[in-house]
Amino acid sequence: MDLRLAPNAIAMTSKEFLAWSTDVMAQLMRASGTKKAIDKISAPIWSWALRNANYPLHFGIACCALEMAAASAPRFDAERLGMIYRSSPRQTDVLLVNGWVTTKLRPDLRRLYEQMAEPRWVVAMGECAISGGPWYDSYNTIQGVDTFIPVDVYIPGCPPRPEAMIDGFMKLHKKIHKEMKGTFLED
Ligand code: SF4
Repeated sequence: MDLRLAPNAIAMTSKEFLAWSTDVMAQLMRASGTKKAIDKISAPIWSWALRNANYPLHFGIACCALEMAAASAPRFDAERLGMIYRSSPRQTDVLLVNGWVTTKLRPDLRRLYEQMAEPRWVVAMGECAISGGPWYDSYNTIQGVDTFIPVDVYIPGCPPRPEAMIDGFMKLHKKIHKEMKGTFLED
């Protein structure tokens, strides 16, 4: 359509149109009470799906990464609990930090976190990720990943055994369940 022939027409970019239509839909649903109904029905399903299908980033930093690998081997078989690794941050929702973070690595790790899909979570695995571990006072070691990324679950140990890692993910499942209860649609 030639907009010059329609002086009352409103031109929008696709991004603006999406934001406008989402806002209108949200207002309509809120006014009619549909939002509450959809929340009630869909939130448990959404939460169940999210916590039973985590996609951690396949990213190993140090020795704790060997335990991460062991957790996925047939003996522990973490995949049966929905932990399926992906190599692209775009396809993941859990950042599993499994080693010490140096000042050089910090901006790259932060970038990986920002590239991940939302909602996303962070698990700090092992003493190095939690506090810097044996290298806490080194000139180039960051004293804990939570100094620059929000951490949801801490798994202590040096290294934590695969059972501890699986237990950490079970704790994450509980947290997801608690957070997503009844909040499928944004207010
Ligand atoms: S916590 Fe221990 S095992 Fe894990 S990365 Fe640090 S030194 Fe290695």
